[in-house]
Amino acid sequence: MSHVKRISGLRDSLRHIDFDVSAADSVNQITALEDLKSACAAAQARATMNLSIKRRHEHRELGVPEKRVGSGLASEVGLARRVSPHRGGRYLGFARAVVDEMPHTMAALESGRLSEWRATILVRETAYLDVEDRAAIDAELCADSTTLDGVGDRALTARAKALAYQRDPHAVVARASKAAKDRRVTSRPAPDSMATVSALLPVAQGVGVIAALRKAADLHTRTGDDRSRDQIMADVLFERVTGRAAAEGTPITVNLVMSDAALLGDSDEAAFIEDHGPFPAGIARHLIATAAGRDTRLAVRRLFTKPATGALVAMESAARAFPKALALLIRLRDQVCRTPFCDAPVRHVDHVKPHAEGGSTNADNGQGLCEQCNYAKQAPGWRSAIHPSPAGRHSVGLTTPTGHQHISTAPRLPQPDTPLPQTSTAQRTTHSRIESQLSELMAA
Ligand SMILES: [Zn+2]
Repeated sequence: MSHVKRISGLRDSLRHIDFDVSAADSVNQITALEDLKSACAAAQARATMNLSIKRRHEHRELGVPEKRVGSGLASEVGLARRVSPHRGGRYLGFARAVVDEMPHTMAALESGRLSEWRATILVRETAYLDVEDRAAIDAELCADSTTLDGVGDRALTARAKALAYQRDPHAVVARASKAAKDRRVTSRPAPDSMATVSALLPVAQGVGVIAALRKAADLHTRTGDDRSRDQIMADVLFERVTGRAAAEGTPITVNLVMSDAALLGDSDEAAFIEDHGPFPAGIARHLIATAAGRDTRLAVRRLFTKPATGALVAMESAARAFPKALALLIRLRDQVCRTPFCDAPVRHVDHVKPHAEGGSTNADNGQGLCEQCNYAKQAPGWRSAIHPSPAGRHSVGLTTPTGHQHISTAPRLPQPDTPLPQTSTAQRTTHSRIESQLSELMAA
C-alpha cells in the first residue's frame, strides 16, 4: 500500500467510529482525537522537511544562485496545506526547528501531549536564540512530559520568553532592533462601512503619535469644539496624514466596482472597493451621488460588469508592460493575489504566459500577484497557463515543480440578480455603456 493511501485509510477509518457511547468515553474520544491531530502535525513537519531538503538539493544541482535556493518552497507548502504562501513559509520554518533543533518538542508533538499551536509558541519564542540555547529550553520544557501539564497558552508563552531572556539577554536587544524593521501600516474593513487603519511602530513613536493626537484634541476641546475627544483625534489623524481637512474629503481615487442594477437602485448586491472589500450598495450609491457634487473632492471611478457572467471586459495592448488602465482593470477583476489561498494585496500585474514566450499583453493573459508569489513563480519548475473556465470568469492553472495543478478563478464580481436575455435591447445598451466606460478608462 502506498504511503499516501495509508494516511487516507487512517482518515477514512474515523468515519467508522461509534460515537454513540457513554459520556466518559466521549471525553476519551475527544482527547484521543486531539492526540491524533498533534501526531498529524508532527508527521506533516517531517514531510515538509523532506520536501525542503529534496527541493534545495535539486536547486543546487541546477546551479540556482545560493540566495535563491529554496525559492518557491513556501508557496509549495502553502498550496499543499491550503493556506497562503506566507503561512506556508511559517510551517516551513516550524518544520526545520522541530525536526532539526527541538527533539523534545517534536517527541511531545508526536505523542500528542503538545498541540501544533503550543509547539509553534515554543518555536517562535526561541527563534532568535542560537542552537544550544534553543536546545536547552527545548529540554527544560518538553523533556519531562508533566512539565507543561495544565499550563495555559499564555503561561507557556511567558515561561518560554522568561527562559529565553535568561539564556541570552543580548539576543533580546538584537531582536528588538530587528522588530523595528517590521514597522508597517495596514488597513482592514470594519463593520458599518468603517475601516480600521493600524500602524505598528517602535514603542516611542507609537506613544508619540497618541500623545500628539491627545494634545491636539485638548486644544480643540478648550476652544469649545462640540466633537468628542475620540472624534477630534480621528479627524486630526486624517488631516495630518492627508494634509486636508476631514470635512473637505479627499482627492484620492476610490476604485469601486458595482453592477449597474445596483447603481440604479434595482438591486442591493454588494459593491466592491479596491483595498477594502465588499461595500453595501446603498452606501456606494450615496458615495457616487456625493462624488458627483461639487462639495467633495472624492473621485469615484465606476466600472461595470458583463451581466451574464459578472466578468470585467477584456482590453488588449501592444506594449510589453501593462498600461495603467489595463493593470487597473486586472487589479479590480482579481481583487487579491491570484495564488490560491493567498489573501495578500496585488502588487504586480504579471503575464500568465511570459511576454518572452509570446504571451500577449491583455486582460486574459494578465494576473494580479503579490510580491512573494510573483517571485515564487520564477523559481524552477513553476508553470502557469490560462485555463478555460465554465463559469465564464478568468481562470489560471498553476503547476508546481511536483506537477500538482491548482486552478485560480477570479472572484465573482457584482452582477444583476436576473441576467437579461441574450438579444435584448437593454443588454445591448448595457454593453455599449460598458464599452464607453472602458474607453473612458483607457483614455485616463
Ligand atoms: Zn500571493
